[in-house]
Amino acid sequence: TEACLEAVEGAAALNAFTAPTPERAREQAKAADARLRRGDAPDLCGVPLGIKDLFCVEGLPAQAASNILAGFRPPYESTVTRQLWEAGAVCLGKLNMDEFAMGSSNETSAYGPAVSPWRRRGEATPLTPGGSSGGSAAAVAASLCLGATGTDTGGSIRQPAAFTGIVGVKPTYGRCSRFGVVAFASSLDQAGPMAKTVRDAAIMLRAMSGHDPRDSTSAPIEVPDFEAALVGDMRGKRIGIPSEYRVDGMPEEIESLWVEGAEKLRAAGAEIVEITLPHTKYALPAYYVIAPAEASSNLARYDGVRYGRRARIGAREGITELYERTRAEGFGPEVRRRVMIGAYVLSAGFYDAYYTRAQKVRTLIKRDFEQVFTEQGIDAILTPATPSAAFGLGEMASSDPVQMYLNDVFTVTVNLAGLPGAVVPAGLDGKGLPLGLQVIGRPWDEAGMLDVAFALE
Ligand code: GLN
Repeated sequence: TEACLEAVEGAAALNAFTAPTPERAREQAKAADARLRRGDAPDLCGVPLGIKDLFCVEGLPAQAASNILAGFRPPYESTVTRQLWEAGAVCLGKLNMDEFAMGSSNETSAYGPAVSPWRRRGEATPLTPGGSSGGSAAAVAASLCLGATGTDTGGSIRQPAAFTGIVGVKPTYGRCSRFGVVAFASSLDQAGPMAKTVRDAAIMLRAMSGHDPRDSTSAPIEVPDFEAALVGDMRGKRIGIPSEYRVDGMPEEIESLWVEGAEKLRAAGAEIVEITLPHTKYALPAYYVIAPAEASSNLARYDGVRYGRRARIGAREGITELYERTRAEGFGPEVRRRVMIGAYVLSAGFYDAYYTRAQKVRTLIKRDFEQVFTEQGIDAILTPATPSAAFGLGEMASSDPVQMYLNDVFTVTVNLAGLPGAVVPAGLDGKGLPLGLQVIGRPWDEAGMLDVAFALE
């Protein structure tokens, strides 16, 4: 804990931690020492972790990297973080992210972007750690903590993990409680671990998982010992390679790391099977209708009355001005764009054309996966994690949000189908930047998925 606190202090330039909590960390570390001495050490006893700003930790700021939540300190604890503390983990503080988890580069954060510890060979350009869990990825990659929590609505754990050469796991929808996690798109959001190795992620995931009566979508399903499942023997496993993930313009290096990954699994005994997921091309547009629709509804609660920031209004103005000004001042441009798109696709005249249609597409995408898992007996699917390596901060034109959205092309299908997905480092590109591979598992088979990830590691 002391070493991590020192590292956090020395790495202020990464802008990964938005609110370090050294006192709390030392207190929890002492308690962990005492437990160790008593010989009653749970799984994460004394392990220092960072917590994405989206999680409520009692008494600590929770701003979701938004100005609209300035000053908000939740009087309650998210279930996931409560379980982590019960497992003995130590809280180093809150981590940077995109505002309300909307973004792929951490550049929409009210705190300014987190910065990746990586650089292109021979270049000084600061790179994005990815997003939205960019602070978590930067912190783990720079060894400021041993692991971090993330959340993943369309790729926000997996894409930053790929960009920073670490492991990120998005569990099956319903595996981890969403209680106390600031909502973005409730039918897609899942918490998950980000860590240096598959084993670390497996240990964290076990502590974070489980049924919670306070989240009606959390599932009453047994939590296996994910660590015990890491064997790396792929004999008898059928691994699917979906042809739709070979997209135009994808760098050659990504394609060859993908082939190498498949070869590695074959060498460990797996059977590699070409598969097709025909509705993949509709996933991105469906996601960018459904996620903003749910966001516009979830973010309606930030009205200047109940939480955080409240705008000043004149003596002759009323509640409408209060709402309008608070939201105009408090939300950044990307959040405002999503709220507008969401309100539009949910409006009476356009609901069927956009929202209903996107939901139908979602069902088709889910069926594509069901078909390969059940009818073709595929155990897990191997894909690239991202269509490119990390880009420079400010490099992705902010005038064209769609360019940023394209980054999520390999990750959003998993959220739409509610499946588990894990990203592991696959190697470096020609400029020395990390690239990741994604393993998509069957529903509730995080154990099997992590074992494939372990075999790739
Ligand atoms: N980049 C995607 C978005 O902006 C995913 C974000 C996420 O998973 N939270 O919506």
